[in-house]
Amino acid sequence: MSHRISFGSTDVAFDCAPGQSLLDAALRAGIDLPYSCRKGVCGSCVGGIVSGEVQGLNGAAIRNDTCGPGQLLYCMCEPTTEVVLRPVSWKRLDPSARKTFTAKVHSNQLAAPDVSVLKLRLPAGQRAKFQAGQYLQILMEDGSARCYSMANPPNESDGATLHIRHVQGGQFSARVAQLAPGDLLEIELPFGNVALAPDDTRPIAFVAGGTGFAPVKSILDDMLKKRVRRDILLIWGAREPGGLYMRSAVERWQKQWPAFRFVAALSDVPADAAGNAFAGRVDEALRANCADLAGHVVYCCGSPPMVSAVRAAAADKGLACEDFHADVFVPGPSSTPAQAVGLPRKNIQP
Ligand SMILES: Cc1cc2nc3c(=O)[nH]c(=O)nc-3n(C[C@H](O)[C@H](O)[C@H](O)COP(=O)(O)OP(=O)(O)OC[C@H]3O[C@@H](n4cnc5c(N)ncnc54)[C@H](O)[C@@H]3O)c2cc1C
Repeated sequence: MSHRISFGSTDVAFDCAPGQSLLDAALRAGIDLPYSCRKGVCGSCVGGIVSGEVQGLNGAAIRNDTCGPGQLLYCMCEPTTEVVLRPVSWKRLDPSARKTFTAKVHSNQLAAPDVSVLKLRLPAGQRAKFQAGQYLQILMEDGSARCYSMANPPNESDGATLHIRHVQGGQFSARVAQLAPGDLLEIELPFGNVALAPDDTRPIAFVAGGTGFAPVKSILDDMLKKRVRRDILLIWGAREPGGLYMRSAVERWQKQWPAFRFVAALSDVPADAAGNAFAGRVDEALRANCADLAGHVVYCCGSPPMVSAVRAAAADKGLACEDFHADVFVPGPSSTPAQAVGLPRKNIQP
């Protein structure tokens, strides 16, 4: 049985079907709520509940350590009664904003032994509207999808550049190195909320793990193009130096922004061999390089355990929890918002 969902003191109301999350029901109804991983990890979709009862989808936990008092993970809750929600923010979806394209592989290069930089081009004359920090979905033959962040800034809108780490046994990433120029992929974009406010001038720390560098690169290139002036610290972590696979971009930012600080964090390199790099994990590097994060913004991107460790380090250093923004690369197939908003699905053509 469906249940009616509404937002307190607005005219928003929609139905949530059995087995559907509050988030998916909202997206299907054309209401855009903040979200990223849709798997109960990143905490982007947390929001309040004014009245009514919910339960975890398939017994999943409806809260995690990203939830404040009274908050729930909307991506993990299904209603059992009529429910009134108090989302942190919402807007009406622009149905024309998200599009599916047959993109052509323009180039595919190994940036590190286990990282491919895949450049896709859209069909001639077509443009993809997205904002720095958002991601696309590659639509697979089996109907599932894989998420990858755009590494190019939004003004380069005739294609998408992806940084893809090869996961052993991974259905898509393990075969990405075999893609050749001219191969076609079905992609849909954009997805994800833009965490950083354009008018915010507070100091910002970016913390990236491995290919978590991709959205950071998009955001920093976009900030550079828009001549944003603010104190920026970038901590980029990998096991070994080769994992920091695009130092040229970092050097460019260092030249353009005198106040730009960069810390390379190498977790598998002993201190006496690390040179200028920090020998340790990114969360340890954040603790070592930031005395006080009160009044800062932190944007973090990488694997779930890495993001959790950085979130804890940032909180210990005085960062307000609402100033921690994360994109979590939760592994595995994505349940696609495309289905949630009723958009057509097409197949991957590798
Ligand atoms: C919002 C978002 C953005 C993302 N952006 C990027 C990006 O820019 N670059 C990028 O490289 N990845 C990114 N990812 C991860 C990506 O979507 C895939 O999950 C990943 O590439 C694995 O897909 P696959 O088809 O190769 O593996 P699958 O076939 O889905 O998985 C195969 C097996 O490997 C396990 N597995 C999958 N990934 C990992 C992992 N990282 N570590 C350990 N085990 C794993 C799975 O649990 C499964 O058992 C992002 C994920 C999300 C949710």
